[in-house]
Amino acid sequence: MYDVRSRDSNEFIDDAEILESLEEGRRLASDRTEVERILNRARECRGLTHREAAVLLFVDDEETLKRMYALAREIKERIYGRRIVMFAPLYLSDYCVNNCRYCGFHASNKTVRRKLSQEELREEVLALEALGHKRLLLEAGEDDRNCPLDYILECMHTIYSTKLRNGSIRRVNVDIAATTAENYRRLKEAGLGTYILFQETYHKPTYEFMHRGGPKASYEWHTEAMDRGMLEGGLDDVGIGALFGLYDWHYEVMGLLMHAEHLEAVAGVGPHTISFPRLLPAEGVDYSAYRLVSDRDFKHLIAVTRLAVPYTGMILTTRESAEFRRELLDIGMSQMSAGSCVGVGGYAHPGRTVPGETPQFHLADERRPEDVLKGLVRDGYLPSFCTACYRSGRTGDRFMPLAKSGEISNCCQPNAMLTFKEYLLDYADDELRALGEKMIDDELAGIARESRRNQTALYLKRLEAGERDLRF
Ligand code: SAM
Ligand code: SF4
Repeated sequence: MYDVRSRDSNEFIDDAEILESLEEGRRLASDRTEVERILNRARECRGLTHREAAVLLFVDDEETLKRMYALAREIKERIYGRRIVMFAPLYLSDYCVNNCRYCGFHASNKTVRRKLSQEELREEVLALEALGHKRLLLEAGEDDRNCPLDYILECMHTIYSTKLRNGSIRRVNVDIAATTAENYRRLKEAGLGTYILFQETYHKPTYEFMHRGGPKASYEWHTEAMDRGMLEGGLDDVGIGALFGLYDWHYEVMGLLMHAEHLEAVAGVGPHTISFPRLLPAEGVDYSAYRLVSDRDFKHLIAVTRLAVPYTGMILTTRESAEFRRELLDIGMSQMSAGSCVGVGGYAHPGRTVPGETPQFHLADERRPEDVLKGLVRDGYLPSFCTACYRSGRTGDRFMPLAKSGEISNCCQPNAMLTFKEYLLDYADDELRALGEKMIDDELAGIARESRRNQTALYLKRLEAGERDLRF
């Protein structure tokens, strides 16, 4: 029985409610008046219900799809401007006791396993800082014996205390297996930014088929993780996602939106981000057995999500090709990774492989971060390395009112400029510096409030004189 406020995942992700929503969506998608009503509602930037989004998921004529993309772009620009927040994933350990069919780290894949020592981690962090990164997403398989929570906490401490000249990691997000409320509390105390956990699939029978063993095999334990974290563990900043390709994408979008509605209902704030990983080939994984999502459908579902949750950060990963990433940025993505490595220890020693060890999956975009940034700036995007909100306590329910009042553009836009300026001063080559400086000049002129514009200009000068980490 569907109940948005229930603590039971079988009730807040109720299968019958999803099927009914999809059925109704399929039927109403040919009703032009209804589609127009929903698009008009989306234009108000107040989001859509999962039932309304279901209708848009079944729109199939090119003309309406194009209008949806244009609207997604308009909403994105109204809220986020041309900013794209940059981050890098960092793999700590590939030990894993779970047996997820789609993942190269699954337990029965007989590969060589390892985890970073604190010394190796320091080398990785220095390499990431030398690339200009300020925000990391820690990744690890689940294995309490080889990779306990204490190890993750120690790694967070090492990361925050490793500095390279002007470089430092200012925000550590963590993507580790579902855990207890007590462990979430400890992560928070250690300086956790966002806790990210992908649902993989919201369809319970498929979930149970995909997860053949280990703690992750329990659908309830996994799906209720954010409730434990937010209601008992003190987390206020969480990110959800689905691994597209495991089950029907329409169903997954319903699951994501219902999960977001649920968190908003019980915790007072929805997810800070939604990630969109798409299944990629991995070692020891039979790729032909999946329901791969085409580029057209992927773009469609991303646009609908942007219309449904206008204020939620949307994360694009290097799983997508450079060319396709451009299209997706245009219609809604607000964060992306660059220069990613999806194996343990790949930043400090690129190309050095351990015999018998495999990455988690094979990447589609392998450009260096600097080339990714050049591409972004040429396309008119402003790369942001900002981490100010979380460090100023503007997270969870304190972030959303800021976002919704439009104040975000007076705060995030100058912060993006300041952090990109730092990047240009410390890491860029001449070509990127010239492109970036021009962009910052143009953006400065576009800051509406005069006092904020003047203050930003002053901060830019102070950065040139050698100061760092200036922010609003
Ligand atoms: N072990 C933790 C877990 O499973 O929740 C977190 C880290 S896992 C390294 C991060 C994510 O990678 C998984 O949640 C899954 O969605 C994604 N992933 C696994 N196999 C993949 C594949 N073959 N292609 C794309 N993404 C994959
Ligand atoms: Fe382990 Fe996560 Fe891979 Fe599953 S997805 S096998 S839990 S690393």
